This record gives sequence, structure tokens and C-alpha cells, in this order.
Amino acid sequence: MSAPASNAGYDEWLDALADGEGYALACPDGHGSLPPRRVCPECGSATLTEEPLAETGTVETYSVVHVAGPRFADDAPYVNAVADFGPVRLTGVLRGVSPDVDGVDVGDGVAVGVEERATDGEPLVVFRPAGGE
Ligand SMILES: [Zn+2]
Repeated sequence: MSAPASNAGYDEWLDALADGEGYALACPDGHGSLPPRRVCPECGSATLTEEPLAETGTVETYSVVHVAGPRFADDAPYVNAVADFGPVRLTGVLRGVSPDVDGVDVGDGVAVGVEERATDGEPLVVFRPAGGE
């Protein structure tokens, strides 16, 4: 791996997420964060434990990206979303919905995983609508 050291924790986290073992870092006060954090961003605690992510989160905000940067050129248009997974919010691309119609609502349930970016095959945090609808 040639990733910078500062990204190493994040890459490991992506691998765990891809294996269905996504987790958040939680401090004793319950603040959530994600690797490569070493201390809680809210209170500075260095006692972070790995807590499993909820199976589904809820969409908090989203935006449809029609004009993407070079790294996402072949992915556009796509839906960039922030979803609430308990102690942490995750940012990712929402797939399985049509970005050109009203297919996304705040509060929708989504599952999270790792898929390839269309542009260059790099791993990407991806949300999919949660089953049951
Ligand atoms: Zn904290």
C-alpha cells in the first residue's frame, strides 16, 4: 500500500466496512468519530473504542452532483449524501436511486457498504436504500 500514513487508519476502516464489519470510534462520553482519529474530536479523549455501526442509517442531507471533479467524472450525476449511523455521520454516494427524479428523502433508511468509483475503481463509501420498501 502506498497510502500516506495519515490515511492508513481510514483504509483499514474501509476494508472493515467492505467486509460488513464497519465500526465507529467512540469515546467514554459517547462521542463518535471515524479513523484516522486518535482522539475524540469533541472532548479530546484518547480512549477510543470501536463500536459496530448500525445496520442502517438515515439520510440527513444530500445533494445531487451533476458537474463532478475529475475523480468523479464518470460517476456524475450522482447523489452525495450524509447519513446518521448512531454516534457518527457518514458521507458517501447514494446509489440505487435515480438522481434525476425525486428519489431521495431526508429520513430515508440506507445501508452502507463499499463499492468502486466508476471513474477509477477506487473504493468508495456507498449507501443503498435499505430493504423492505
Ligand atoms: Zn468525546
